[in-house]
Amino acid sequence: MYNEKLKVSSDIVAKAAREALERRGVTINDIAEIVYEMQYPYNNGLTINHCVVSVERVLNKREVQHALLVGIELDELAEKRMLSQPLQQLIESDESLFGVDETLAIGSVLTYGSIAVTTYGHLDKKKTGIIQQLDSKTGQGVHTFLDDLVGSIAASASSRLAHRIRDLEEAGESIVGRDKI
Ligand code: MG
Repeated sequence: MYNEKLKVSSDIVAKAAREALERRGVTINDIAEIVYEMQYPYNNGLTINHCVVSVERVLNKREVQHALLVGIELDELAEKRMLSQPLQQLIESDESLFGVDETLAIGSVLTYGSIAVTTYGHLDKKKTGIIQQLDSKTGQGVHTFLDDLVGSIAASASSRLAHRIRDLEEAGESIVGRDKI
């Protein structure tokens, strides 16, 4: 049962999620580059800064923070060989039929709708940008969850941008010359 006395403040959770990403060597810019790659064909005037802002907004979502904390913790515990068997081996080997890493990632993109879901699927196949590095780091740490989490943040930030840009267009405005959208 939920214990009110053990409530964790949102600031602590948000900070821990960002620190976890940083500790695992993933920067906001790394994720923004994937977002740019996904969205620039559709949006004239899109800048990397627009993508950074969108990633920041996605990282403010509790659902995303929680997914990051759970997934990164499991990767780290697997690296330290602290999980019980057979889970240890499933995560450490990045067993292709495991699927819980993808399920967690998909769960966290649902807030951002169908564009986020389809973009996540695309990134999962193509392994764009830093996702490729994380996915192929065999023997240098466990990133079973991290590659999917990075894909999910990039997919959510892409979907957010697509919707925001349409809103601007319909208001007779444009992203050109705007810092934040
Ligand atoms: Mg994975």
